[in-house]
Amino acid sequence: MPPGPSPHATRLAPSPTGALHLGNARTFLVNWALARARGWRIVLRIEDLDGPRIRPGAAEAAIDALQWLGLDWDEGPHYQSADLSPYREAMERLARRGSVYPSALSRADVEAAGSAPQEGSGEVVFPASFRPPDAGTPRSFDDHATPWRFLTPDAEVIVDDAFAGERRVRPAGDIGDFIVWTRHGQPAYQLAVVVDDHRQGVTQVVRGDDLISSAGRQLLLYRALSLVPEPTYTHLPLVRGADGRRLAKRHGDTRLDTYRAAGIDPRRVVRLLAHWCGLTGTPPLLSAAEFRDRLDLRTIPREPVMFTPEDDAWLKDRSDRPPPSRRARG
Ligand code: GLU
Repeated sequence: MPPGPSPHATRLAPSPTGALHLGNARTFLVNWALARARGWRIVLRIEDLDGPRIRPGAAEAAIDALQWLGLDWDEGPHYQSADLSPYREAMERLARRGSVYPSALSRADVEAAGSAPQEGSGEVVFPASFRPPDAGTPRSFDDHATPWRFLTPDAEVIVDDAFAGERRVRPAGDIGDFIVWTRHGQPAYQLAVVVDDHRQGVTQVVRGDDLISSAGRQLLLYRALSLVPEPTYTHLPLVRGADGRRLAKRHGDTRLDTYRAAGIDPRRVVRLLAHWCGLTGTPPLLSAAEFRDRLDLRTIPREPVMFTPEDDAWLKDRSDRPPPSRRARG
């Protein structure tokens, strides 16, 4: 009997806060290629709930850029902002269980009390000592205009990652009681992602490893909401600039739109991304489908990939030589 359709699904989940650059492109390409090689359904989800940071037109531009690169999907785009009711329902369930509570304390209040921002993430730990006395009491989710926090249990969470291996995180120490509903009257990222991954049938989450600690928070939400199955995570190292910081504008203009406008063949971009995945001996122009056929998680460097101006020059010079070789810094 031929095998039935795979029960697995993944998602491409761009945040329309800016243009896609080479770093995002590498993660999306690997995510897409794993899905297509393994028969997972692909959902395109636009994560447009980050109010003030959302840029008009960025979602459409991201969709365009993904298609230009040669990626496709089976479902979507689904815009998170289109319907907030699934997130409200999840909040109602969490509130009834006593897992969330409203707290008007601002980041500045928490900082003023001596909780320093976490290195790198810029997040401030919200310690248990800041909980109101009635935190943990079952209640109704009746106040949509105040931020709500999750009552983070003081426990270690194991993230069994298909690329990064077994990681242990402790959300209570890393972040404490994190926000699940924002003062803009919207679900926060952690809640939105869990609700959507569950209702969209996502079983495979592939993304940058800056989100490993978020995976711990997300697993706690799965458990508080009694959602199964929990997804399998594949967190990939980020692309960084020569200064070791994650790829951003300061490292030059690496937006896909810019390369496209300069007339660069997307298959040349895919070849560079393939090089960053440890694939060698690839043809000068490599389609996304050819990348899919060659991708092997085992060849992806475990340390961050480093982008340098020579990579940018290589993309533009159109020569047949292989992309410049880079030793990434850990
Ligand atoms: N929308 C997020 C981003 O663009 C990805 C979130 C996720 O994969 O969970 O960084």
